[in-house]
Amino acid sequence: MACASGSVPTQQNVLVEDLLAVHPVAAARRYQPADRGELVAAVMQAAGGRGLRPLGSNWSLSDTGVAPDVIDTDALSRHLSAPFPNPGQALPPERLRGGGDFLRQACSADASLRGRYFVHVEAGIKLRHLLADLAGCGLSLPTMGDGAGQSLAGAISTGTHGGDLRVPPLVEWVRAVHLVSATGREIWVTAGDSAFSAAALVTQLPDWCPDARFISDDDTFAAVRLGAGRMGAVYALVLEVVEQYTLIESNFEYRWPELGVQLAVSRLGADGVATGVFDAPLRDLDAGFFRTEVLRRTYFPAIAHEAKFIYERGPERWPNVPAYFDAHPDVYARLLADLKLGGLADDLRGGPVMPLHHVNIAISLAEPWRCWVRRRWQRAPPVRMHEVAPDADDALIAAVKANKTNPPGVVDALKERLELGPIVNFLGWATHDPRKPRLDWYLDQEIAHIAAQHQAIGATSGETLFLVLHRIATDSVLEAGEDVARAVSEVIGGGFAKLARAGPASGGPHANMLDAHDYGLDGAQCGNSGEFHFDAAGGAYLAFIGDAIRLARQQDGNGLVFGYIGIRFTPAASALLAMQKYPLTASVEVATARSRVDDVYAGFWSALHDAARARQGIPHWGQQFRHTAGELEALYGARLRRWRAALADVCHGAPEVFSTAFSRDKGLEPLGAGGATDDDAIDIFLAGLAAGGG
Ligand SMILES: Cc1cc2nc3c(=O)[nH]c(=O)nc-3n(C[C@H](O)[C@H](O)[C@H](O)COP(=O)(O)OP(=O)(O)OC[C@H]3O[C@@H](n4cnc5c(N)ncnc54)[C@H](O)[C@@H]3O)c2cc1C
Repeated sequence: MACASGSVPTQQNVLVEDLLAVHPVAAARRYQPADRGELVAAVMQAAGGRGLRPLGSNWSLSDTGVAPDVIDTDALSRHLSAPFPNPGQALPPERLRGGGDFLRQACSADASLRGRYFVHVEAGIKLRHLLADLAGCGLSLPTMGDGAGQSLAGAISTGTHGGDLRVPPLVEWVRAVHLVSATGREIWVTAGDSAFSAAALVTQLPDWCPDARFISDDDTFAAVRLGAGRMGAVYALVLEVVEQYTLIESNFEYRWPELGVQLAVSRLGADGVATGVFDAPLRDLDAGFFRTEVLRRTYFPAIAHEAKFIYERGPERWPNVPAYFDAHPDVYARLLADLKLGGLADDLRGGPVMPLHHVNIAISLAEPWRCWVRRRWQRAPPVRMHEVAPDADDALIAAVKANKTNPPGVVDALKERLELGPIVNFLGWATHDPRKPRLDWYLDQEIAHIAAQHQAIGATSGETLFLVLHRIATDSVLEAGEDVARAVSEVIGGGFAKLARAGPASGGPHANMLDAHDYGLDGAQCGNSGEFHFDAAGGAYLAFIGDAIRLARQQDGNGLVFGYIGIRFTPAASALLAMQKYPLTASVEVATARSRVDDVYAGFWSALHDAARARQGIPHWGQQFRHTAGELEALYGARLRRWRAALADVCHGAPEVFSTAFSRDKGLEPLGAGGATDDDAIDIFLAGLAAGGG
């Protein structure tokens, strides 16, 4: 008998919106469980209904989380056992539910776990809250995506990854899954040889349901971890974490045609041997990679108010470090001081040589010859924090944040930027230029009109900003495309503007290196983003990048797509539906701005998905997703069939509960047995009634 609470708070007929406004849906019911029993009750009330999905942050751009009934997992965000071992401070009591000692007991019994660290945490926790919890305990996530707004289960259920070259994605760090299956029966799933599978220990967990099932099986574990929401509602996870570590980061601009050629011959072998772009070790700032890259961008300006060498952001000025700098070491020493890098240089001096840990490349689609590379190196000893917190917002971004859903509220700030810009530095026009009246028309009327159009349909100020810039850039009188493209590239490059950053991997808001997301903009944006995964040892990912650039050049006949291509590399994952199939997987993300008033890039996106298909790119489960069931079968083959067989077992008796239009369309349905019997259906119906469902 399932262990459900008598009821679960439920909202009826609510609009459920995803972060980038790709798939808003009117949900018939949104359940809001606050504990395990209520989560079970939610699943049982929905059983036999219209199709159900648990939701984390609803950041996913694919329809994998879209369902008529949804479970909001926000309140399922506490630890169920104290992190173990804990090299830092104890978790504050309010972060722990039930005070469980499970991890200590499980780890003490198994010598193979010595020196490793674990958390047992509810699945709805946001990664940013987990980062803060972990930092207090002297721990960190081993890896994650670029932002930490996702929930733990949402990130894991879609194969979310970052750009860590040698650390497999987060889904590979899961050690046990506590699942509420479609019938409401709970299942504790682990790998076959797991230290966390001992029933005698697990059944001692507070609030444990005696009816729960145990599965210790590699295939089921590999399937359930990346379940895309179809396997059931994950209540909690045992996750392996690591001791707190330090990340050192550098950001430099390059010319994509040159970097692309280098990438084509760069390799990172399974033995760790790195060549080309992947071969960039760092010991300190005094010599080697960092010094070289800085000095290749250092020059003596002909006109300057102070006669000295300066470092300038941008692509390299010199192919190699000019010999002059070797002969005059004082120049570089003074440069480090000018760049306020003296403290970080001191902290790194005498430290270990660090292999390149992380690479993240962004190409501007508006000016595809420009790209930026973020590199990170990892070490255990701490350094003083350097540029960890974001810079203050400029007036326009501040206006967008203050007026997320009030587009007219950004009009003045936008006009001010454009009014100031044309004469001084933006469009570079004199006031008598015939284009000036056209710009005045935008300033006096059209910007306010576009803002009003957005307001009328409930669109955001970010969308307004985008459409105004798009209209100005493509205006045949203004001929301002190149200037706007440059300004857009500067915004993209702005994310890579800090020459160096350093600090702890985990931590609270603005006090950790892993989370670069600007939460202040959430709710102000709208966009498209798709990501496709390739074998980094082959050429297909570079060819796909070429496709994306070519398609962008064809846009509107003038090549203006405001967006970027992001390139990251990760090792393989063993989860059956993980996109990271290759020893080194290259992921290519394409992201563009979007306005719901005028979807100007619709044609670009449809051609881009076709190009990804033609190059055998594997789509990200949590990004925009247009592949068909047949195409997925061709990409995943036996892995997909094994996943579907595991699904048949896990959802046995109630295959329809977590079945949605997405899962049916993509072939994420049980293989073989698993259909509901009449008896099962009646049981579920009665149990649902008992749990308070209607
Ligand atoms: C701004 C932004 C930045 C991003 N950055 C990256 C990145 O750097 N790297 C990357 O790989 N991806 C990235 N993504 C994609 C994102 O990580 C995935 O879409 C992820 O799934 C979102 O997590 P979520 O908590 O919002 O999940 P949701 O969107 O809420 O759900 C995603 C899927 O997980 C399922 N799910 C959620 N909770 C549970 C649960 N408790 N039990 C069972 N299933 C559950 C849902 O049913 C759904 O199928 C980004 C997306 C955005 C919008």
